[in-house]
Amino acid sequence: MTTYLWNPPPVAALPVRGESALLPVQRLFFVGRNYHAHAVEMGKPVDKSVERPFYFTKSIQTLTRSGATTPYPAQTQNYHFEMELVVAIGKAGFQIPAQQAHEYIYGYAAGLDMTRRDLQLVARDKGRPWDLGKDVEHSSVCSEIVPMPGVVIEQGEIALQVNGTVQQHSDVNKLIWNIREIIADLSLFYHLVPGDLIYTGTPEGVGAVKPGDHITGQVAGVGEVSLHVGQPA
Ligand code: MN
Repeated sequence: MTTYLWNPPPVAALPVRGESALLPVQRLFFVGRNYHAHAVEMGKPVDKSVERPFYFTKSIQTLTRSGATTPYPAQTQNYHFEMELVVAIGKAGFQIPAQQAHEYIYGYAAGLDMTRRDLQLVARDKGRPWDLGKDVEHSSVCSEIVPMPGVVIEQGEIALQVNGTVQQHSDVNKLIWNIREIIADLSLFYHLVPGDLIYTGTPEGVGAVKPGDHITGQVAGVGEVSLHVGQPA
């Protein structure tokens, strides 16, 4: 029997609607600048005719279940919410054609890509990696997974409120690169496996939170995610 010097971490996993079994999560992929209005508010408009999607990843340890209270992170004065539709991959695949992308979808979730915006923008503007801005402890918030095997979501309201006030409101039909295109493109770089999650990008209206704030967000037809922002720890 294998022994370890100390207890290995628990398996990262999310509840699944209608199932008692949890979905074990593998990797966390994030699409950057995937709604025009958000790209513009970041000062980096996207021209799909000449650009390709780009990605960043976060450590699996950042995965946080909806409803949690997480500490306001260190080293930021500008901790931002980003409301996102999350795709859960259910089947291994590499170099997946867009027209077959639906076969690799297990389901969807509502997620938050919490971001140290001040550090992300410093890194971006200095040409440095985004890790300190994006790979923030507790920053990958995810609702339960909703099984929708083979379904490609092409439209639906996406919205976020802070303390009940609407801050983000858009539709996933505004994705610059849609679900099929993202799965096809990402799978050119990675051998996707069941349990990989893809956060598909945020619409406009991103903004800062402070300790004590309560974030709620919804994707129509999928579900709701929430997060309580606690005191620094
Ligand atoms: Mn994001």
